[in-house]
Amino acid sequence: MRIGAIEAGGTKFVCGIGNENGEIEERVSFPTEHPEATMANVIAYFEGKGVEAIGIGTFGPIDIDPSSPTYGHVTTTPKPHWSGFDFLGTLKRKFDVPFGWDTDVNAAAFGEAKWGAAKGLDSCVYYTIGTGVGVGIYSEGKLVHGLVHPEGGHVLTRRHKDDTYEGFCPYHGDCLEGMAAGPAIEKRWSMKGSELPADHPAWAMEAFYIGQAVSSAILMLSPKKIILGGGVMHQRQLFPMIRDEVRKQLNGYVSADPIVNGLDSYIVPPGLGDNAGLSGAIALGLAAAAK
Ligand code: ADP
Ligand code: ZN
Repeated sequence: MRIGAIEAGGTKFVCGIGNENGEIEERVSFPTEHPEATMANVIAYFEGKGVEAIGIGTFGPIDIDPSSPTYGHVTTTPKPHWSGFDFLGTLKRKFDVPFGWDTDVNAAAFGEAKWGAAKGLDSCVYYTIGTGVGVGIYSEGKLVHGLVHPEGGHVLTRRHKDDTYEGFCPYHGDCLEGMAAGPAIEKRWSMKGSELPADHPAWAMEAFYIGQAVSSAILMLSPKKIILGGGVMHQRQLFPMIRDEVRKQLNGYVSADPIVNGLDSYIVPPGLGDNAGLSGAIALGLAAAAK
């Protein structure tokens, strides 16, 4: 099968074609501009490609309620011109194929459950720690949706005792995203995360915040795997530090074996690496085709 996939990010769009095994056969990428210009690029890419379905994993927030008149639209994003944009409808008018439509992080969680670090499991939680923080949730074999979709990047956090940074979230200031996303690291330490040495105190503080999110996810959702992706998680030294924080914060309360004895293989990087998002979009497209 030829499945079209779109990973729509705030800074760039990646479009590609994959097959039923999640293998990516080709891909292109272009910057996220005005929606009309961006969608013209997407449409030009897929025209004549003969795809049987298209899966979309996108930045949000988005309307994912099929009974809503604005299903498929981007909703309250501060990203100029995208708020209220009919993303899905624009493509549906061009391509008469089944569409999968979900958040970028739900897509990544789905891809990881199908082909990646959570393969064979019926639940996982996927965090991206990048320009923002987002959470995708797969539970009992299904992606989790509710009133809208999970927005676990904006949960409140307990501040680190040495942290005087106010946080950059325009809605909440010092929520998880406001304290732990890439821009928070850069503003707090006046240096890009990628330029801070591995033994800099920034990483202990970062692990403290991400550890809280992971601990809460364990307590709320009891997932069988927690996957941490996004640009900031390229700092691989964070993994053991986050596991230590989770151990400390849970303090022996959760007695499942992967938590007590197996955190090394429970809190992990994406099995699909930086392809998690695009592969997830393929998985969404496949699921739409199967319906
Ligand atoms: P996006 O979230 O926009 O899709 P990324 O997941 O690549 O993209 O995240 C970008 C953010 O991650 C930026 O804030 C950047 O500073 C940060 N980042 C990228 N690479 C690294 C790195 N190696 N170490 C620390 N931070 C990084
Ligand atoms: Zn927030």
